[in-house]
Amino acid sequence: MAADTPENPTAKEPRLAALPFASLDGFRLNEVIDDIGDAVCVTDSKMVFKGANQNFARLYGLRSPEVLLGKSAFEIYPDFKKSVFYEICERSIRTGETATRMGRSLNTGLDIVIRCYKSKAYEDRYVMVIHRMSEGSAKADYSSVDSLTSLPNRWKFEQDLDNMRAYGKNVVGLLLVDINHFKQVNEVLGMEMGDRCLMEVAARIKMAVTKNDHVYRQGDDRFLIMCDPADELDARRHTIAHTLSKPFTLGLEQYVPDLRMGLHVTTFEETPAQAMTRVERALSWAKEHKEPYARYSQALNTSRFDHAMAKDLREALSTGGLQLYFQPQVDLIDNRVIGAEALIRWVHPTRGFILPDQFLGYAEDSGFIREVDEYALRTAIIYQQDLIRRGIRLQMSVNLSSLSVCNPNLVGKLEGWLKAYQVPADLVAVEITETAMMRDVKTSQDVIESIKKLGVEVAIDDFGTGYSSMQYLARYPSNTLKIDRSFVSQLTTDEAARTMVKSMIGMAHGLRIMVVAEGVETQEELDLLRMFECDTVQGYFFAKPMPTPAFEAWIADRGVGEIGSTFR
Ligand code: C2E
Ligand code: CA
Ligand code: CA
Repeated sequence: MAADTPENPTAKEPRLAALPFASLDGFRLNEVIDDIGDAVCVTDSKMVFKGANQNFARLYGLRSPEVLLGKSAFEIYPDFKKSVFYEICERSIRTGETATRMGRSLNTGLDIVIRCYKSKAYEDRYVMVIHRMSEGSAKADYSSVDSLTSLPNRWKFEQDLDNMRAYGKNVVGLLLVDINHFKQVNEVLGMEMGDRCLMEVAARIKMAVTKNDHVYRQGDDRFLIMCDPADELDARRHTIAHTLSKPFTLGLEQYVPDLRMGLHVTTFEETPAQAMTRVERALSWAKEHKEPYARYSQALNTSRFDHAMAKDLREALSTGGLQLYFQPQVDLIDNRVIGAEALIRWVHPTRGFILPDQFLGYAEDSGFIREVDEYALRTAIIYQQDLIRRGIRLQMSVNLSSLSVCNPNLVGKLEGWLKAYQVPADLVAVEITETAMMRDVKTSQDVIESIKKLGVEVAIDDFGTGYSSMQYLARYPSNTLKIDRSFVSQLTTDEAARTMVKSMIGMAHGLRIMVVAEGVETQEELDLLRMFECDTVQGYFFAKPMPTPAFEAWIADRGVGEIGSTFR
């Protein structure tokens, strides 16, 4: 790793002799540095250790500082992003000044100051990392630990979350575990057994998590797990429920804790306190509704309204109150319609026309969304049969929620409907957002694969708004990527949006994935998308979602193109 850096003569010395820092020249540094209470190390600009003091070695349980020489600092600081180190190096190089950055090591819980100094003696830059071991921070750490379970507490959680964000981790999963009726353990079996119970629960949770996760005690009978990566949140919920489903002995009793859990994926827009409130809200919802767990959503805040909605929604399904509208998708090469997206509408007997964003949230939280999705899918397939009979061939896309993507039964139903209504599978597509796939990565991957095996196409919806990682694009082989409206609407005003859209298209085409741009409203947006070689567009510029008669009139006017002919 250090091959292209000039050899540092100090590397051969047992201590930090003759550090080549301009500002420090002339001092007997090795002695000074060994005397101070902090743990100090020095690396070169490639983060290869050039020296360290005794305290630093002690902190990491090493025999002596020499064993570090030549090793990469990232082996010691796996919780720090490389980009953070390089960022401060670069700043120093750019400004010619010493750059400093502070944070807290998640490994040791200690405050860290990183400084990058310019070297006079060498071309190379050197970075100095100081671990603070001052009394103040040691005390703060001590008070952040719960004495019964030795787990860090809520205060520590807030600090850790802040620090994770400072180091570039923007999306983190939170799981709040509550032991239902724990008070009874204390009352019936006594405080001592209560304590033992909590220690056992803490120990089992610790066993169930992975090394990147953090576990905190949040209150009497509550534990918080910070789950990294966030997409493993559901997997973690399963494992924790499983490890705690085996009875443990409390005195003469066999005890199985009754767990309730709140789940929330927090992003950088929330403060740690807000994130905490949300995961607590999810937990209280689960407790109120006697569900094993609940996930935070806006809908949880308006549950009374939603209960009425749920009842009406159930009725709407059987009485035809739900309808599909269709929005055409236009091929950019010849401007012909090659497909349509089916979008659900609810005509409520007293409230009138309700858009999906106003009712799907609750349908999702109550699990009822599966029925809505199945209704949409089946209705779209029946409509396809009708269109095909009339000689109209276009691809129909239907949205699937996260619950449907995790429902293996859906595949069998889909297959049955395609057969029953004699609709070729490739004339049907499902749209799934990245966030929906994250709910249960393993199951959704299986479901998506089975859907694709049927010959039904898969589109990634709202691309750019969720995790948007190339990794997921490759992991979930899809046919189409739908660029979210938020990018399209900024195309004409924002250079960054243009660059993003252009590269999304390039990348998708590289993976042989077609691109649909959503929410195209103006000619200028259309022109740019055409220039960027986007395949298909959809948006108010062409048409709003329409009920079937209007939709058919519209396509009759425009002409229907061949599907799949647009790929370049
Ligand atoms: P989506 O899948 O991103 O659908 C596109 C949304 O953007 C639609 O909103 C559409 O009417 C709107 N839209 C299309 N072109 C334009 C435009 O040029 N400008 C603007 N401002 N908006 C445009 P809609 O119909 O209200 O649906 C909202 C969301 O509800 C959908 O977002 C989809 O996530 C969900 N949804 C709709 N139907 C279903 C369904 O049957 N099942 C499930 N699970 N979700 C559905
Ligand atoms: Ca969609
Ligand atoms: Ca979308």
